[in-house]
Amino acid sequence: MSFDELNLIDPILRALHEEGYTTPTPIQAQAIPQVLEGHDLLGVAQTGTGKTAAFTVPILQILHQTAQVAQHSHSRIRCLVLTPTRELAIQIGESFAAYGRHLKLRHTVIFGGVGQLPQTQALRRGVEVLIATPGRLLDLMNQGYIDLRHLEVFVLDEADRMLDMGFIHDIKRILPKLPAKRQTLFFSATMPGQIQELANSLLRPNPVKV
Ligand code: AMP
Repeated sequence: MSFDELNLIDPILRALHEEGYTTPTPIQAQAIPQVLEGHDLLGVAQTGTGKTAAFTVPILQILHQTAQVAQHSHSRIRCLVLTPTRELAIQIGESFAAYGRHLKLRHTVIFGGVGQLPQTQALRRGVEVLIATPGRLLDLMNQGYIDLRHLEVFVLDEADRMLDMGFIHDIKRILPKLPAKRQTLFFSATMPGQIQELANSLLRPNPVKV
């Protein structure tokens, strides 16, 4: 199996090649074509499996292929990735930057524990992809910096860790602000009952499982 068989566009294939990737990991081989087709995804996967590229790569392609031609001077948030820690958020941001280096999509990363000014400035300039930890996202939403009404793709990363870290209340406050009509990708290393319930409440019926 090679990346050439996954229906990826040339600028993304070139970026993967430049990263030195030759072969998709099993989760990438399974997830990428399904996400490209618009399916919801339930991914049971640990860090280290290539999970990040499994969602960043097809999301970049979807957003690129349906990019608004008449560019809004102020671009809209079309993808939100929620992740539990600042380190993961930064890493996911780096993946969007790396695999999207030949595309013109903008992303930014927001997390707590640092000043919010650089983050609100980046939001004001406009991004298509927002990667966030739940607490800071909710803060900036409550202050009116973030409009999620045009969201097309929602990723919940490391759902089990989110719950362990006590983020469920923040998440429950964020979810009602997301459009119901969207594509959702849900990742967790483990699937206890509470996580399965959360997945069922977020995903459309019969998501693809990888
Ligand atoms: P992740 O599971 O997403 O945290 O990825 C684990 C590591 O594997 C990261 O450092 C990636 O850069 C790397 N990686 C992801 N996909 C591939 C691939 N197809 N080939 C080689 N390395 C990869």
